[in-house]
Amino acid sequence: DKGLEKSSQGFFDKISKAVVGKSTVDEDVLDNLEEILIASDVGASTTIKIIERIEQRVARDKFVGTDELDKILREEITGLLLENPHAGSGNIDETKKPYVIMVVGVNGVGKTTTIGKLAHQFKSEGKNVVLGAADTFRAAAVDQLVIWSEIVGVPIVKQNMGSDPASVAFDTVQSAVANKADVVIIDTAGRLHNKINLMNELTKIKKVMQKVIPDAPHEILLVLDGSTGQNAFEQAKHFTAATEVNALAVTKLDGTAKGGVVIGISDQFQIPVKYIGVGEKMTDLQLFNGAEFVDSFFK
Ligand code: GDP
Repeated sequence: DKGLEKSSQGFFDKISKAVVGKSTVDEDVLDNLEEILIASDVGASTTIKIIERIEQRVARDKFVGTDELDKILREEITGLLLENPHAGSGNIDETKKPYVIMVVGVNGVGKTTTIGKLAHQFKSEGKNVVLGAADTFRAAAVDQLVIWSEIVGVPIVKQNMGSDPASVAFDTVQSAVANKADVVIIDTAGRLHNKINLMNELTKIKKVMQKVIPDAPHEILLVLDGSTGQNAFEQAKHFTAATEVNALAVTKLDGTAKGGVVIGISDQFQIPVKYIGVGEKMTDLQLFNGAEFVDSFFK
């Protein structure tokens, strides 16, 4: 897993240093471990949870060797990661046709790139994909999505800049139904304006789509930049308060030594990480696998 090398090395090195000269897991080791987890962007509440669980094991077993710490930590972290709902059965619920994905997240996190990568992945599985450019506030956002639609070779529905995002979303799902598409991916504006505005905007987009497909969107995918630590937590708080986010895509894990965001955000908000971005290329998107992630995190 070349993409995750940077995340893993940092963590393993730090753990090794935390136990140098120690044979048992004691308070000092746990203090060091707590610092490492925080520094790896696991987040305060999830870090405390992990430390408490290890403390319980130490209390129960009386003696826990530092040589076991790696294994215990892996078990605890794996236990916190939520099951990817569509793992093993393709990335989507194929009984929904079209399967509608609404993508949310602030500008710069890799939203457009992730949509392009997803479109490529679905297309290479033989699925028909339609993109909807409902981020009508920035001309650049529409232009970029158009470029991705050309690179991948999938149709895109768009309107003039400044037009109503809900109207674009409506046109997109209508076109998808008419053309018997398998997957619809709708981009939305990434402005971090106030919560009420964001909520109203996303609610309106959903309502309008539901006129065509009553149970749409089937997936509300929040894209977060895995290298931004606390910012990613703040964004998750903001978007989960505004809409029913039910899947996460964490990007830029190739460029950070702090992949802990994946663990903390999934645990704190109880939303599964579905995809991870590990580079800028079309193929640099992986379906998240908890066991694999933990393996690469500890390698
Ligand atoms: P948006 O504003 O959220 O739509 O962000 P973009 O999709 O335009 O991405 C912003 C920048 O991040 C671009 O330079 C992308 O190539 C880059 N990017 C996106 N995803 C990844 C990733 O997984 N890894 C790396 N290294 N770069 C990424």
